[in-house]
This record gives sequence, C-alpha cells and structure tokens, in this order.
Amino acid sequence: MQPAESEHSSGCLYLVATPIGNMEDISLRALRILKEADLIACEDTRQTLKLLSHFEIRKPLESYHEHNEMTRAPELVLRMESGAHVALVSDAGTPVISDPGHRLVSLCLRHNIPVIPIPGPSAIVAALTACGLPCEEFTFAGFLPARSGERRRRLKSFVSEPRSIVLYEAPHRLRATLRDALEMLGDRHAAIARELTKVHEEFARGRISELMRTFDEREPRGEITLIIGPPDHKAEHRTELRINSGHDGQTLAQRVHELEESSKLDRKAALKQTAKELGISKREAYKRLLTEENT
Ligand code: SAM
Repeated sequence: MQPAESEHSSGCLYLVATPIGNMEDISLRALRILKEADLIACEDTRQTLKLLSHFEIRKPLESYHEHNEMTRAPELVLRMESGAHVALVSDAGTPVISDPGHRLVSLCLRHNIPVIPIPGPSAIVAALTACGLPCEEFTFAGFLPARSGERRRRLKSFVSEPRSIVLYEAPHRLRATLRDALEMLGDRHAAIARELTKVHEEFARGRISELMRTFDEREPRGEITLIIGPPDHKAEHRTELRINSGHDGQTLAQRVHELEESSKLDRKAALKQTAKELGISKREAYKRLLTEENT
C-alpha cells in the first residue's frame, strides 16, 4: 500500500503519536516520519530529546506549547508554506488530545496545508479497552476543573450521560474527584487506569466508594485515567443512602456492618442506630438494607 504522506511533496503537518510509557509502542510509521521530517515541534524539548535519543534520531526541535502557540503557530505555517514537513509531538500520547496543537491544525487547514494524523498510543483508548466498562460509545471530558465547585458542576452535567465517561486526572486530585463524583453521580462502577504501559501499570476496578477506600489506604501516584461507568439503579439507590447517612463513603449496609463489628451491636440494634442516624424509621431502614443487599 502506498503511504499517504508520499503524496505530500509540498509542506505539511504530521500529528505523530508517541508512547505513553513503553517505548515499544511507537509505530514504524511514526519513526519514519520523525526521521524524515524537516523539524519536530514539541511540547517540551527535553522530553522529546529523550524519545529521539532512544531511537537514535537527530532532528531540529522547536518548542510548541500552550504559552507560545499564538506566535509559534503562524511561524510554523510559514515554514510549511515554504515546503517544510513538520512533525508535531506532545510529551506523551496523541498530540492535540488534551495537549497543544488545535490552533496549529486549524491554521494549517485555513491555509490549505495538509494535516496528516500518525495514529498511535493514547491513554484514553488504552484505559477504556481494558477497564471492563461499556466502551462502544463514550464521552471524553479531559481534565475536570481543579476547583471543587466547578468540578462538581461539571460532574453534575453528566448525570444523564448514558455513556462511560473518561477523564484525565492528576494523582493529587484523584481522591477529591472520586468524592465529588460519588456525590454528584452516585456510586457507579468505575475504573482507575494507572501508569499504563509502564512497569507499575495497574487497573483498579469497582464502585466509586470502593475505589475511594483503595486510595484512602495509599497515596495515588503516577499518571491516572479515570473511567466512570453509566448510571445504574443500584448506584443511585446507594448514593441516596450514603448522602443521607452522614458517614462519608458509606452505604447503609456498610454502616450497619460497621456497627455490628466495632460496637458489638446485634443486627437489630445496629439497624436501629443506623435508622436514627439517617432520620428514618426502623422499618424503612430495614427495607433499604434488604434492597441494598439484594441488588
Ligand atoms: N495526549 C495524551 C494522550 O493522548 O494520551 C494525553 C495528554 S494529557 C496532558 C496527560 C494525561 O493523560 C495524564 O495526566 C493522565 O491523566 C493521562 N495519561 C497519560 N499517560 C498515562 C498513562 N501512562 N497511564 C494513565 N494515564 C495516562
């Protein structure tokens, strides 16, 4: 098959996906394009130098990041108009996806400069395919806002979203995001994909409350992609109980079991105490306990 880029004797822009951890994930085509390009525009020259030296490629680098793209994009377009083949890479994964590049792509298109994707690794796809949640369709929401109020508003906007939601998250914000997601979306099935393709790759799968417990016990570290599954009846029911219970991250059943174990109460007394904490009747608490244990 004839490679698409051989058609572009004039200048063009290649969007080259690079590994998100494991260097073996680079494609043969990506390597060839990086070797043949006249220059490589990259987010962080130090990061890209590591990649290039691993593959013994020497090439002029130009930084292209969110702070200089306003001036750098027109400069690169001028170079492409003069015939340069420019490869854009980000620090890891597919450029433009939660990474700089959109401005350059749209400027190229406005100037009739061909834009050619060189597909490869992206954390979204790697995380989704192995997380076990429905992924025939999904919503990608990038990074949530860092401030809790805005983050909660954004999460709330997904209440009726019927598809799995993929999010990028910084490790130091993971717990707060899980807490907000539980409150806004209910105790849905979710998955945390950590350090994908690297030595310590890990998938944590379970309900949001279970993932919270996992990462209460240890500090989340490394690169994290979070997937929140579609709504289900059980998740909504459990949240309602949890929110009312005042015991953060606990369902009614969990609270009853806790009281049985830690306060040595029998089930009846534990249920009575939980009902009191929730401000509901013993009968209602018992009904909810049965529903919860049954779903
Ligand atoms: N454009 C990149 C892509 O296609 O994967 C994503 C860039 S975004 C700035 C970086 C975020 O992607 C990280 O903060 C993390 O949420 C996610 N990510 C990148 N590498 C990852 C990995 N190896 N494992 C899990 N998530 C990763």
